[in-house]
Amino acid sequence: MGGWGSGRDSYATTPNVEECHTLDVNAFTELVDHPGAFGPYAWYDNGGNGDKVAEIGVRALPVDDASVERATHLRVEYTVTDNRTDETTDHAYPIALNYTACNFGGSRPWFRCPMVGCGTRIGKLYRPLNGQIFACRECHELGYRSCRESGDEVKQAERRYRRAYAKIDSNNRRPHPNSTDYPYPPGRPAGMHRETYETHLTKLRDAYHEWQDASLTELHALAESVGVEVPPG
Ligand SMILES: [Zn+2]
Repeated sequence: MGGWGSGRDSYATTPNVEECHTLDVNAFTELVDHPGAFGPYAWYDNGGNGDKVAEIGVRALPVDDASVERATHLRVEYTVTDNRTDETTDHAYPIALNYTACNFGGSRPWFRCPMVGCGTRIGKLYRPLNGQIFACRECHELGYRSCRESGDEVKQAERRYRRAYAKIDSNNRRPHPNSTDYPYPPGRPAGMHRETYETHLTKLRDAYHEWQDASLTELHALAESVGVEVPPG
């Protein structure tokens, strides 16, 4: 282990998030509702369209405690292979979860960065390809991608969100995040089955969170580009 926290030599040698495996808490919104359950999580080449390049196991904790409705931790299990020596290192450790109320009712999960002394509440954790542990951007001293790239991500996330909203918005209200009476969940359109509505609503929530996270990432990229510190999360 080791490597992080040793100081960054220069901006050019700072790995950015594209050179990492990213763990997005939004991928686990179902798993966290089933403490004890286990699911694989994989990374694929070529922007998600190519071959599987890595996989980890994720267990929602606690196991065998029926009194707990939502997972308090996710335990990640994986093996890191050193690509020079082929030496392997097994990892299994819990990542604590937090929940915050969300605008559409219910609550959403967040990771607490598992690095000792950190614990930042955050939506994404990263493992640089030469690293061992998943941790927040700050702990790994990761650079942000260019503002333009993260800006594109925000636009895409916003489009996904608007599409999800349009599917259940019978009154064709325009979702706008800055309005004081917004966001509110659209009501169930007449004639739509309750189950269908709930499914659309879940997708809408997920899309909203991804949009929020992308916006936050863009903010950090902008701040980094002008040398301003903003709090993580
Ligand atoms: Zn951290």
